[in-house]
Amino acid sequence: MKLYVLDNGYIEGSYQIFYRENEYDGGGRIVFPVNLFLIETDDAKKLLFDTGVFPGGIRAKSSSYRYQSEEQTVEKQLLRCGVVPGDIDAVILSHLHYDHAGCLFLFQGKDFYVSRAEYEAANGENPPAAYAPADYRVDGNWHLLEGDGELFPGIEAVMLPGHTPGMMGLIVHLQSGPVILTQDAVYAADNYYPKCMIPGLTMDEGSYRRSLEKVLHLQNRYHASLIFGHDAAQRKQLKMAPAYYE
Ligand SMILES: [Zn+2]
Repeated sequence: MKLYVLDNGYIEGSYQIFYRENEYDGGGRIVFPVNLFLIETDDAKKLLFDTGVFPGGIRAKSSSYRYQSEEQTVEKQLLRCGVVPGDIDAVILSHLHYDHAGCLFLFQGKDFYVSRAEYEAANGENPPAAYAPADYRVDGNWHLLEGDGELFPGIEAVMLPGHTPGMMGLIVHLQSGPVILTQDAVYAADNYYPKCMIPGLTMDEGSYRRSLEKVLHLQNRYHASLIFGHDAAQRKQLKMAPAYYE
C-alpha cells in the first residue's frame, strides 16, 4: 500500500481558527497548509482522502484567503502520482468543510464515504460557517458511515467528532507501520498533547476532547505515526508527492 501526501496550497486565516482568544500571542493571522491524501491499496484501488478547496476559491462565508499555485491543484498533484481524477475509485471525506470537500465535483458519480452525522449536519438547514453546500451537493454513490470500521483492507475509519459533528480520521496500516491521518480532529502539534490547545473553531468541546484522547489511545495502541490536518511545521518534514510512504 502507498500513501501519498498531496499539497493543495495554503489558507491564511484568523488565529482564532486554531486557538482561543487570549491563549495565543503569535499575532492576528496564521497561514496553514491544506493536506490531501492519495492511497493506493495492494489490490490497486486508488482512494482519495479529502479533496481540498474549490478551484475558484473559498465558497463558504469566511474571512480566510486561499493561496494556490497551478502546481497545487488537485489535478496537478494527482498527475505527479500518475493518476487522473477518472482513475479514482472512491473519495473518503474527513468532513465537509470548504477546504476538504471543495473539489468533490471532480469525482462526480463515484463512491463517496463520509460519516452520517457529518452528512446530516452539513445538509441541514443553515449549515454553520465553513460549510459551502455547493461543494458537496454532488451526485455520487454516498456511503454514510455509522461508526468505526475497516473501509478497505488495511484502512480503518475512526470517528473523531468535536471539530464538526461527524469528523472522521483514517488509520492507514502501511508495511512500515500504521499512520493516523487526523485531519481537523487535530489541526497541528500545539493542538495535541501535551499542550492540547483548543481551537476557536470547535463545534462541541466535550466531544472534541474525547476525540483527542481517542487519537492518543490509538497512537499508543498501534505505535502509530500521526499526520495532522494543517500543521505548517510538520508539513516541512513530510514526504510530499510524488514521494510516498509505504
Ligand atoms: Zn474543518
